[in-house]
Amino acid sequence: MTQRTERRQFFGQAIAMAVAAGSGVQRVGRAFGQETSAPGGEPAVAKAKATGETKGMIPIIDTHQHLWDLTRFRLPWLKDGTPLSKSFLMDDYLKAVEGLGVVKSVYMEVDVEPAQHEAEADYVIDLCRRHVGPMVGAVIGGRPSSDGFAASIDRYKEESAIKGIRQVLHGGSTPQGYCLDSKFVQGIRLLGERGLSFDLCMRSGELQDGARLVDACPGTSFILDHCGNPSVREKDLSAWRTDISRLAERKNLVCKVSGIVASAAPDPWTPADLAPIVNHVLSAFGPDRVIFGGDWPVCTLAATPRQWVEALREIVQGRSEVERRKLFHDNALRVYRLA
Ligand SMILES: [Zn+2]
Repeated sequence: MTQRTERRQFFGQAIAMAVAAGSGVQRVGRAFGQETSAPGGEPAVAKAKATGETKGMIPIIDTHQHLWDLTRFRLPWLKDGTPLSKSFLMDDYLKAVEGLGVVKSVYMEVDVEPAQHEAEADYVIDLCRRHVGPMVGAVIGGRPSSDGFAASIDRYKEESAIKGIRQVLHGGSTPQGYCLDSKFVQGIRLLGERGLSFDLCMRSGELQDGARLVDACPGTSFILDHCGNPSVREKDLSAWRTDISRLAERKNLVCKVSGIVASAAPDPWTPADLAPIVNHVLSAFGPDRVIFGGDWPVCTLAATPRQWVEALREIVQGRSEVERRKLFHDNALRVYRLA
């Protein structure tokens, strides 16, 4: 089977893969390299302590790991003087997730200036190739409605580390309805033809637009980031609940359980504040269509990765081990085609 065919089949094989994955989770705890500074500014690979599995702990695939090196990239949305306005590198990530059992991760694009999309992709492809940290794949930034979009994704035709594309749709400059523009829809259809997925990250009030986009692109696989971005502080989640239930009827979409804890900032929070959101997406999407994401370092606005993981473990502790393994690990192998 060619890599292209494999990619196209990634949702089609959902059931078979889920059954297989439940019975044979791979060995984990492989040590991976760590990025360290070396003379000349070139990162060197050094053996590092893996954040591998502790006995009895379900291993984690973090499907939403950011990195930003502000000496290389400009992130126009980062405001000077805020907690996130510094570089976050692989070493920092490894420290932040130490002991949590993160065995694989997927890089998530960080909305760099579009002129830097290629440089961002090259940066993370290099990290994946050199096994710098647990990162094994990447969702890179792109502009599906741009004229050069087809050429921009064909650049990675032979690059197995590239799993999908994201353009965040919740930024202040992105108007409502943007994702239904015909050029945008064409670009998202093209992703399906090329075996790449699209991470859908949008304002919770616009999820119905998301459903229309998903319907317009039946050959494309979507991942809904951050449970559709509801706010933990919102008292009335009824509209979000209805929209999520409708979205979940689309079989070419899975839900990423990530991001929600940051919406609690700056107030203190408890797992009970997150539970209604998590439980609703788990029941709407079902055990085979949910994946875990850490959203480091954005999560640190409200929680360390450990606090987020422990809160989620607490919320799902009454579910079967098979379901918990699917959420934290197994489903991600299928959704992002991680070998
Ligand atoms: Zn994020």
